[in-house]
Amino acid sequence: MIKIEKLHKSYGSLHVLKDINMSVYESEVVCLVGASGSGKSTLLRCLNFLEKRESGRISIRGEEISPETHDINNVRQTVGMVFQHFNLFPHKTVLENVIEAPTMVKKIPKDQVIAEAKELLQKVGLLDKANVYPSKLSGGQKQRVAIARSLAMKPDIMLFDEPTSALDPQLVGEVLLTMKALADEGMTMVVVTHEMGFAREVADWIVLMDDGRIIERNRPNEFFNHPKEQRTKEFLQTTL
Ligand code: ATP
Ligand code: MG
Repeated sequence: MIKIEKLHKSYGSLHVLKDINMSVYESEVVCLVGASGSGKSTLLRCLNFLEKRESGRISIRGEEISPETHDINNVRQTVGMVFQHFNLFPHKTVLENVIEAPTMVKKIPKDQVIAEAKELLQKVGLLDKANVYPSKLSGGQKQRVAIARSLAMKPDIMLFDEPTSALDPQLVGEVLLTMKALADEGMTMVVVTHEMGFAREVADWIVLMDDGRIIERNRPNEFFNHPKEQRTKEFLQTTL
């Protein structure tokens, strides 16, 4: 589904992604973990072409994607992204937030989009909030709207960048449950997270990044119980 080969990225003289090689197959959930500054967000942003890579290849569904040969806006429609901060439109209701992109970008008829948006809101448990404004929602609810809004574009792949780290602890669970439900439906997902419980339970693979490199990619059980790398052991000691 996604194949990254020999990816490098620098900000000026700061080399933040160093020879990243990684594949994500259909319906897999990959959790990206690692210390602050290790390059996790940069890697996700490269996958969504929010950042320009310096060298290396990114292929989606077997097709190499680059800004020179592809309309990146079309590619972004198939790769949804949810950030730490929800970025909802404050002057639009929940429903209006969810229908914005499919109506404006994809030009799908409004009644069809509204029907689909309501289904998505039902799915994230917020149909009763369809007509309220984001300021009236809790952080967890806002994040679930952000997930519904992203899904409204019918992406093949969903990228999550620490979707729960700005939330009060009691609101984290509802967002993780929504993500788990999505994973159970077979969505291909790359999730940057500090939630090791979620990673252990939902991930097919856990990828540890350190200083711009992939240190270890392993099955959750192995990753937590029998890590291959010394650096993984150190990481686990600081986080668990
Ligand atoms: P965190 O867990 O804190 O979110 P991260 O693993 O997501 O960290 P990145 O945000 O990918 O890390 O950052 C990797 C490195 O790149 C850091 O050293 C950071 O300071 C640097 N960096 C990130 N964005 C930029 C930018 N726009 N300009 C310059 N340097 C940047
Ligand atoms: Mg980050």
